[in-house]
Amino acid sequence: MRLVFMGPPGAGKGTQAGVLAGRLGVPHISTGDIFRANVAQGTELGEQAKAFMDAGEYVPDSITNAMVRDRLTRDDCRPGFLLDGFPRTVEQVAELDAMLTSSGHHLDVVVELTVDVDEVVSRLVKRAQEQGRTDDTEDVLRRRLEVYADQTAPLIETYSDRGLLAKVDGMGTVDQVSERLLSVVSGG
Ligand code: AMP
Repeated sequence: MRLVFMGPPGAGKGTQAGVLAGRLGVPHISTGDIFRANVAQGTELGEQAKAFMDAGEYVPDSITNAMVRDRLTRDDCRPGFLLDGFPRTVEQVAELDAMLTSSGHHLDVVVELTVDVDEVVSRLVKRAQEQGRTDDTEDVLRRRLEVYADQTAPLIETYSDRGLLAKVDGMGTVDQVSERLLSVVSGG
């Protein structure tokens, strides 16, 4: 199964993507997690990404696409994958299409986790306090939501036009949302 997970920052994407990938037996590939791990390890990729992340901007497509291409060609992706936080731009959609076409595969479903914006902001502020994330100050949060609205929200329509979109209500407890996701994915 090949899935893409979308939703604004703070929608609970990471948690839900991890649960769902575990249930489906496919790797959970979070571009944000990969970037953060590289920043923590002080790799060249981490150095390239950090300034963009700290400003609430997207890491350039050339860097992000190369990283995802590398990750998706590993053996564990043969049975499928759940992409969390990729694609986020029109160019990334094109790159993913090209990767899938060249391997003879296609996406099964694109999940959009929906939440209301006030709830998102309060989740993000709480998470920043708990985790000390340097990309979660209030200004940066606002910028991340703007960038999502400008660059990523329009992609939802692209996938909807392709008949791949499944909208799932992200409000409620972790278990409630997980159950909704499972029923959508197993039904689709
Ligand atoms: P996330 O944890 O998914 O919210 O990602 C954290 C940060 O990593 C984002 O705010 C971006 O700076 C960067 N990032 C993650 N995924 C992407 C992507 N697909 N394209 C560009 N930047 C990304």
